[in-house]
Amino acid sequence: MARANPQQKVALEQLREDVLGTMQDLSLVGVQVISALEDLPLGVLRRSATQRHGVTRWRRGADGTLVVETVDLHPNLLCEAWNSYAKFVLYHEFLHALGWRAHDMHFRGLEALWPDAAARRLGPSFTQAMRTNRATWMWSCSTCDQRFPRQKRGNGRYICRTCRTPLLDVPVHDAQ
Ligand SMILES: [Zn+2]
Ligand SMILES: [Zn+2]
Repeated sequence: MARANPQQKVALEQLREDVLGTMQDLSLVGVQVISALEDLPLGVLRRSATQRHGVTRWRRGADGTLVVETVDLHPNLLCEAWNSYAKFVLYHEFLHALGWRAHDMHFRGLEALWPDAAARRLGPSFTQAMRTNRATWMWSCSTCDQRFPRQKRGNGRYICRTCRTPLLDVPVHDAQ
């Protein structure tokens, strides 16, 4: 976990307000639950956490019950370009925070209530964008022109998934 800077805090609070507003519109949760989510600490993940887009952290309370410690979002979500996906990720984490801890069928059903259907499908694009941000090499296929952003050279050890051509290392600087 990293500490949110003042700008990130403002962005997180705006997201919280938007998501809670939508949750109220959905009549998904009562006023009491909304007020619990209003007080929940929000933070950011480390920028290098490319596998996770959001996380709900728990700790044991004095009586042994699990209490939400914080909900953290990936800092790259806190920009206009990813705003709709950021809201969906926060909604997903809020569902966890409300006690649905597993990604079971019930959880997926609640998740599917989020009205912005396009936003619900942006996970793979966000992962890909983060990889591209961090990449120093594009493993490039000379046959079908696909490019795979990576941090290390492939040194000819990898082939294109589509056409089986060995991938060439092209520095990101030249590839763009
Ligand atoms: Zn989850
Ligand atoms: Zn190819």
